[in-house]
Amino acid sequence: MTTFPDLLRSEQRFLLTGHENPDGDCVGAQTAMSHLLRALGKTVHIVNPDPLSKDFDFLRAHTTFAHATAGEPLPEFDVAILLDCSQLQRVGALGKRLRERLDSGAAKAIAVVDHHVGSEHGDGSVCYVDATAAATGALVRRLFRELDVELTLPAAEGVFLSLVSDTGWFRYSNADAEVFAMASELVSLGVDSSKIYDTLFRRNHPDSPTVLSDALQRHRLLLGGKLARVSLDKALVERCARADFDTDAVMDPLRSIEGVEVVALLKERFDGAVKCSLRARGDVDVQAIVRQFGGGGHKKAAGATMQMTLAEAEQAIETAVQQALLAHR
Ligand code: AMP
Ligand code: MN
Ligand code: MN
Repeated sequence: MTTFPDLLRSEQRFLLTGHENPDGDCVGAQTAMSHLLRALGKTVHIVNPDPLSKDFDFLRAHTTFAHATAGEPLPEFDVAILLDCSQLQRVGALGKRLRERLDSGAAKAIAVVDHHVGSEHGDGSVCYVDATAAATGALVRRLFRELDVELTLPAAEGVFLSLVSDTGWFRYSNADAEVFAMASELVSLGVDSSKIYDTLFRRNHPDSPTVLSDALQRHRLLLGGKLARVSLDKALVERCARADFDTDAVMDPLRSIEGVEVVALLKERFDGAVKCSLRARGDVDVQAIVRQFGGGGHKKAAGATMQMTLAEAEQAIETAVQQALLAHR
């Protein structure tokens, strides 16, 4: 059986991709992986299913990012590596195109680097998966060691972005000893932590306080105060998008309410589906809750795309969380 490091050593042309609407962990891990592969003398293209958020523009100084558009040809590659997800279905329309390349024999393999529960059973034929790792970027950092490649500053910035994105800037319970040891090493290499913080969180649009307050006003405390739910209809989702507002920020104040065990953010999508994000405090396993809606993630942060109306999704989530809380007693 080919190990992941063997695959990186033996193949030549790589395409790096990840889940739709790539987040900081996804693009940070891609950044580091692209520098690792270049150091090994490989050809690398990063092609995401969606454009990069402007938050991550600072990475472009040393790393090239592309996104797939219908009609534009994809670069040639031997191996496509999915980072921060394990299923082609999470890669949107680009996932189908990657599958076609494989089926036609134009590409040799799909590989996976990921830290989600169950990712070894995804679409990768060669996987580097550890569901206990705080971020995909941490796994790429481990690969530098396994392949005996020195970490450069651009790669270190990628790993740092991954760590801070998935640990809520070192606040969540996944911020373990490996995370802090890596963070120390990355800062020693020259990563400017407070500059990255300002780049990510202190360049908000003037409308962001208004959309944040409008979104927060829609919260409901349910199930005796154990579930905090916010539903954003299409109109508010669109206002958030126009203000370039990251709706994840809505969940934090709700997570801080004493007694809340689960926070649910439901967003009406333009295709009629509902994007659901769940965050847990305490011991409820939200990954297990979203599984019934075809989603996935981690014990304390998970998501799903629900094929139903917003009102139906509200009800379905309330019922599912109630059952999980009861089972937990
Ligand atoms: P989000 O709520 O979108 O920030 O996602 C929380 C976690 O769940 C992240 O690790 C996501 O990668 C994962 N996740 C979100 N949506 C899905 C989905 N539809 N299928 C599998 N995992 C998901
Ligand atoms: Mn992610
Ligand atoms: Mn991640």
